[in-house]
Amino acid sequence: MSTASTKTTEQKPATVNNTQPENAKLVQNNVASESESAFWKNDWIRAQNTLSSIRRSLSSFPSPPLRILRVSQLDADLLDTELFAMLKEQLWQAFSLLDPYYKRYELELMAIIQFILYRFSIYETGASFGAQLQNLKYRNEKMHNGGLQSTANDAPLSKMQRMLFGLFTIGGQYVWAKVNRLVTAFSWGDLAENDPRKIFWTSLQKLEHLYYTSVLINFLVFLYDGRYRTLVERMLSMRLVYARRVMNRQISFEFLNRQLIWHTFTEFLLFLVPLINLRKLKNKITHTLIPESYIKSHTLAFLPSHICAICHENQSSYAASAGVSISSSSTKVNNPYETNCGHVYCYYCIKSKLILDGGMWRCLRCGEEVNEIRRFDNKVVEMEVEEEEERVDDTSQEKDYQSTDNE
Ligand SMILES: [Zn+2]
Ligand SMILES: [Zn+2]
Repeated sequence: MSTASTKTTEQKPATVNNTQPENAKLVQNNVASESESAFWKNDWIRAQNTLSSIRRSLSSFPSPPLRILRVSQLDADLLDTELFAMLKEQLWQAFSLLDPYYKRYELELMAIIQFILYRFSIYETGASFGAQLQNLKYRNEKMHNGGLQSTANDAPLSKMQRMLFGLFTIGGQYVWAKVNRLVTAFSWGDLAENDPRKIFWTSLQKLEHLYYTSVLINFLVFLYDGRYRTLVERMLSMRLVYARRVMNRQISFEFLNRQLIWHTFTEFLLFLVPLINLRKLKNKITHTLIPESYIKSHTLAFLPSHICAICHENQSSYAASAGVSISSSSTKVNNPYETNCGHVYCYYCIKSKLILDGGMWRCLRCGEEVNEIRRFDNKVVEMEVEEEEERVDDTSQEKDYQSTDNE
């Protein structure tokens, strides 16, 4: 309190003294007829004592309380916790393929992450990353007692405060967890009542209860006055205030909104994509872009009539990817059906093409659009086909056509 007030009293008269001769000059220039020294000069000197005493007593004057949104402060804490959890998960994933031996050093690893986060946030800038996102920063509340609590300039944290904060939060947490683990591992709680180790264990338990009770009380006080979130902050007089006061105090939901829109959009796409017939669309586009003469010149008309062009096409794409040659037995026409252009395909092949491509399919042999098919009755071709079937003697395939025939 005293240091802050003396600082202000020292600075202000200095600035006033600098400007005073200029003011006097101005007065002299403007009103040339007046006497050499300004008429207010003596009054100004006489008023100095009163003015400085008023300045000194400024801190005891009532001032409007500085209100910081409690929800922002708590959100900042949540964001910090979330960030730590994310980093921890990443680290665990990185170690997951290694020996589970690292689990032994879990506490140490966690302390290291916390230290890195602390070193680059609170130690360096005086605000944790969560607090920075919420437009908050710590200030040295010791310098803002009484009427100085709403002053425009916030006193930064002293080096001692920053170091002690790190020591208490990271070191304290680590030591507490380590001691608790050791005590539990050696099961000191199960020893006789008068054993010093048992007494240590019970005192640890009591200390823990005391700590949690004080945390609860501190939180209730925080909810009432909105000043210190945690016990360590209260002990070290580190108060969260707005980093930039002119900024909108409300939380920005821009990221959230963007995320929501993107999420909805992807969900809508996932709903829409199965409804779109991509093959039909592709056919339509190729029909409009590629000239008909090109399609008609690049047909499979050279194939023998007992070979199904669709089977051949499928087989050749498979053969190209697998690096094998096409066998003629696997591409011959099964259950022949004739298209409106007079070419013969397997019933299964042509029917599935028509269903999937929705009547936009072009014959692979002549490039004509196929819109209807009928059972092929040409005995000569059928004979040829049957002869080959007998040679292959594939009875299971034959059963397949009979069943498709009945359909
Ligand atoms: Zn076929
Ligand atoms: Zn055709």
